[in-house]
Amino acid sequence: MSTEGVIYRVAGPVVTATGITPKMYDVVHVGKEGLMGEVIKIVGEYSIIQVYEDTSGVKPGEPVTNTGLPLVAELGPGLLTSVYDGIQRPLPVLRDKMGDFIFRGVSAPGLDREKKWDFKPAVKNGEEVEAGQVIGTVMEGSMVHKIMVPPTFKKGKISGISDGKHTVTDVVAKIDGQEMTMMQKWPVRVSRPVTEKYQPDIPLVTGLRVLDTMFPLAKGGAAAIPGAFGTGKTVTQQSLAKYSNAEIVVYIGCGERGNEMTEVLTEFPELVDPTTGESLMNRTVLIANTSNMPVAAREASVYTGITIAEYFRDMGYDVSLMADSTSRWAEAMREISSRLEEMPGEEGYPAYLAGRLSEFYERACRAKALSGEIGSISVIGAVSPPGGDLSEPVTQNTLRIVRVFWALDTKLRERRHFPTINWLTSYTMYDKQLSGWYKQNVAENFPELKAWAMQILQKEAELQEIVQMVGSDSLPDEQKVTLEVAKMIREIYLQQNAYHPVDSYCPINRQYVMMTLIKKYSDLAGNALASGIPVDKIAYLPVRQRFNQAKYEENVDAELDAVSKDMDEQFAGLGA
Ligand code: ADP
Ligand code: MG
Repeated sequence: MSTEGVIYRVAGPVVTATGITPKMYDVVHVGKEGLMGEVIKIVGEYSIIQVYEDTSGVKPGEPVTNTGLPLVAELGPGLLTSVYDGIQRPLPVLRDKMGDFIFRGVSAPGLDREKKWDFKPAVKNGEEVEAGQVIGTVMEGSMVHKIMVPPTFKKGKISGISDGKHTVTDVVAKIDGQEMTMMQKWPVRVSRPVTEKYQPDIPLVTGLRVLDTMFPLAKGGAAAIPGAFGTGKTVTQQSLAKYSNAEIVVYIGCGERGNEMTEVLTEFPELVDPTTGESLMNRTVLIANTSNMPVAAREASVYTGITIAEYFRDMGYDVSLMADSTSRWAEAMREISSRLEEMPGEEGYPAYLAGRLSEFYERACRAKALSGEIGSISVIGAVSPPGGDLSEPVTQNTLRIVRVFWALDTKLRERRHFPTINWLTSYTMYDKQLSGWYKQNVAENFPELKAWAMQILQKEAELQEIVQMVGSDSLPDEQKVTLEVAKMIREIYLQQNAYHPVDSYCPINRQYVMMTLIKKYSDLAGNALASGIPVDKIAYLPVRQRFNQAKYEENVDAELDAVSKDMDEQFAGLGA
C-alpha cells in the first residue's frame, strides 16, 4: 500500500498518477497545491484521477497523495441556508478566501466548525439505541434538525448525553463507549439505507394547475423538465422550490451560462417562502456550479446534492431536489470520458450515461428511514436539449427512467402561454396510484373531471387540423362549443403566471373549483345549444371575461362564486 506518488500526465481535469495504490473512488490530493480529486479508473500501475479544481499549471512529477477515503458529504446542523460548490465547499467562505472563481487548493469544511448549536437529547443515558435512531435535536432556524445515530453504527448503550451548546465536532454522547458528534460523513456515491420503500401514492402538491391536475408527480417520484433555452425550466423549478409541499429544498444549479454564479447566489436567496414570509434559503441547501467551474466538481455535485437530500429524508422530511440542468451534468461526464479516451457512445456521451442517470433518479423514493420516520425525496431534473431536440441521448435516456415528463414547448412560449408545458406531449405514470388521494382529499369526481378536460384538449387538437384546412365556419355547433371550452381550459386553467402575486400559487381545492366551473359552463352551453340557442350568443356571454380575470383577484374564491352565479343567470337569460 503506497499513499505517495507522482503525476505522470495531465489532460485538463484528468490527471494520471503513478506510485499510489488506491481503491476506486478514493480521494487524492494532486500537485503542489494539493488539488482535490477522485480516482475514477485504475489501469495497472496508473491511477486516473478526476480533479475537482482547475489543473492549469499542474505538471508531471509533482506529488500525489492518496487519502484512502471516498468522497463524502458532511451531514449535520448548518446544512440549511448553505451555498456549496459540487464537492460541498461553502462558496461564500471560498470567495472570502480567494475572491471570485479561483478556488484552487482551498479547502473549507462543509459544516461550520465554530458555530454552536443547542443540543436537546431525545434519549436517556443507559438507553439502548440503534443505527439511524434520533438521539437528539437542534433548532436550525425554525426547522427541527434531528441528530441521528449514523447508519453504520451498531446498536449499543448510550452514555454521557446531556443538553448544551455544542459545535458539530464536539462529542455529544457515547454509544458503548464510542464517541458521537452531531456531524456524520457519508460517501456521496452510495445511497443511504432505508428500512422500507413505499409505493408513491401521495402527490407532491405544487400549486401549479397544469402539474397538479394534469400531470402530477408523486412524493418520492422523479420528473424531467426538458425544454429549449428560454422555455421556463428555471422559472418552473423555482416555483416548485417555493410552493410545492416539500419541507426541504435541495437545489443543484449546474450552470448553463458563463457567469451565472452571481445570479444564482443573489437570485435564489431572494426567493421568499410563501408559508413563512422568510427567505426560502432557511429550508434550502443550494449547490452551485457554473459552466466556468471545473467539470469534475459538476459531475460530483449531483451526488453531493442527493446525499444531503437523503439525510433530511432520514429525519422524516419530504425533500424536493431540483437539478438545473442535468444536461450540463451529462456534458461533464462526456468531457471527462473523452479525456479518458473511452469509446464514445451516442453523440460522444459515455456508454455509462444511461446507468448514471438511472442511479441518480433511483435515489428518489418515499421510505421508512432507519429512524422509523417516513420521508421522501422527489427529484425534478431539468434537461436542456440542444435546439430543443428531444431525440438527443440525455433526454431519451432520462425518459426511460422518470415517470413524469413535463415537456416545455417553444411554440407555447411564442404565444406567451406560460407555463409552456405542452398538454399533448407531457405525461405522468402516477395517475392511477394518485387518484385515491385526489378522491379522498379533493373530491370524489376529481379524476373524472381531469379526464374530461384532457379529452376536450385532445378533441381540440383534432378539430384544429380540420379548421386549418376548411376554416371554423364549417364545423357543427357542438364542435364550435368544444373549441370554446378548450380555450377556457387553456387560458383560464393551464396558463398561470409565475410572477403574479395571487395566481402564482393555486391551492388544490381552488383548482377543483375552477375546473368544476369550466365543466359547468360546458354543460350549460350544451343545454343551450340543444334548446336552439345560437353558438355565438353562448360564446360571447360576459361571464367569460369575468372568469378569465377571476384568478388574478385578491378575493379570488369569492370571485369564483360570483362567476358561478353569473353563469346561471346569464345562461338563464338566453332563455334556455
Ligand atoms: P430556461 O431556464 O428554460 O432557459 P427560464 O426559466 O429562464 O428559461 O424562463 C425564461 C423566461 O420565460 C423567464 O424569464 C420569464 O420571462 C418567462 N417565463 C417562464 N415561465 C414563466 C411563467 N410560468 N410565468 C411567467 N413567465 C414565465
Ligand atoms: Mg434556466
